[in-house]
Amino acid sequence: MGTPGQSVSFVMVGSGAVRVNPNRAGPSQIVQVGERALLFDCGRCSVHNMVEFGYPVEEINDVFVTHLHFDHVCELPYFVLLSWNNGRAGRLHVHGPAGLNHFLHHAIQAAYEQDIRSRLGHGKDPAGLDLETVEIQGDGTLVDEEGLTLSSLATPHGEMLNLNYGIDAGGKRVVVTSDTQPSPELVGFCRGADLLVCECSGTSEFLLQQPWGGWHMTPETVAKLATGAEAKSVVLKHFVVENFTDDTEIAEKMAEGVRAGYGGEVAVGHDGLRIEL
Ligand SMILES: [Zn+2]
Ligand SMILES: [Zn+2]
Repeated sequence: MGTPGQSVSFVMVGSGAVRVNPNRAGPSQIVQVGERALLFDCGRCSVHNMVEFGYPVEEINDVFVTHLHFDHVCELPYFVLLSWNNGRAGRLHVHGPAGLNHFLHHAIQAAYEQDIRSRLGHGKDPAGLDLETVEIQGDGTLVDEEGLTLSSLATPHGEMLNLNYGIDAGGKRVVVTSDTQPSPELVGFCRGADLLVCECSGTSEFLLQQPWGGWHMTPETVAKLATGAEAKSVVLKHFVVENFTDDTEIAEKMAEGVRAGYGGEVAVGHDGLRIEL
């Protein structure tokens, strides 16, 4: 567990999902422990948002990828290249599922080979592009330092290696879910969380109609998870359903649905939401 007294805060960088949503960037979150910002996923428009919310990309040294669906990683190349361009001083550490190195090589070094050669030619320091990557095979402890413990749990989602992250710091536990199906192991992983940041892609009626609907959480399964885990509060994210309805209140209605089966605090995540733990 982290050092009691160390400040811990959560920032929703992007609360949306796959399709363009003018009100929400794609999946991205920051957990700040003391001065250190940990970034979870890097979806559409998230680089713009993190800078706007006070987190210059070149000052973020730790990135954790939940899974390799494009909505969660499409701006990771931009994040890496921009932070290099801006003069990254600290080494960038990227954790993610097996396949991460293949993705990064093809999406950065191979795809931007001409750009990288050009910038190196005018004196850009190659060290800023020297990433340290860790490919995660499943469950385990990834960071175990004074004041910060970080662990992963793999759960089913779209037949991919799919990682949820638990952050223990300052005497608090935050869980950032990936996209995920309900899973008994996830209940244990979320046990006693002070903050559970959980995907809620759509209502059960909506998801039942989608071929991929079974990969995701509904208000009912979020409530069951949060209640079973005795989580203290829940923030919802990844509102796929918003792209398929004219109901502008759908996310708030889903939050009501979670409250029907769970007694803790439930908030609809929005870009820029900041919670001090
Ligand atoms: Zn997603
Ligand atoms: Zn996904």
